[in-house]
Amino acid sequence: MDAESRAYHEAFMREAIAMAELALKSDETPVGCVFVRDGNIIGRGGNETNRTLNGTRHAEFVALASILQSNPITILEETDLYVTVEPCVMCASMLRQYRVRAVYFGCWNERFGGTGGVLNIHSDPSVDSPMPVFGGIFREEAIMLLRKFYVQENEKAPEPKQKKTRELKTEIAPTDIHAPKDAATKV
Ligand SMILES: [Zn+2]
Repeated sequence: MDAESRAYHEAFMREAIAMAELALKSDETPVGCVFVRDGNIIGRGGNETNRTLNGTRHAEFVALASILQSNPITILEETDLYVTVEPCVMCASMLRQYRVRAVYFGCWNERFGGTGGVLNIHSDPSVDSPMPVFGGIFREEAIMLLRKFYVQENEKAPEPKQKKTRELKTEIAPTDIHAPKDAATKV
């Protein structure tokens, strides 16, 4: 990829990252995307699975829904997708079935990736022509957003009971060791 086209793709990836940042602010897994046609963004999406309690509301589907409000589905054949995290198996299947022209993503999705991370839905020879994918654009930024999210979630999570018990045990351990059993129970 030459410097000029890299700058072109990075500009759209920045827009995708902005969508991921918005998702993070509303306690959603920070994944964002934009669909681009002829150098123009025609749809934006951020993950909405928590707010909607709907596991299919991935950034790609959110953007797709807004695109379809004013365009036929065939428009996807002329669009490129920029998404901060590699599309999952579900989204990769949708993207390929609608013949999205190309996919540019940030970091790999090592658990659910459908474009090389786990499965190769973009290039499986059993369906039409393969969908070109390019990974690694602003990979670190995409990963950092995910890390921020997991830290944020952990801080909010109630302290597990097991952990409390473990801490309590540590506190009384010195007494247990030196005092007779009945004395320890009185404390
Ligand atoms: Zn997905």
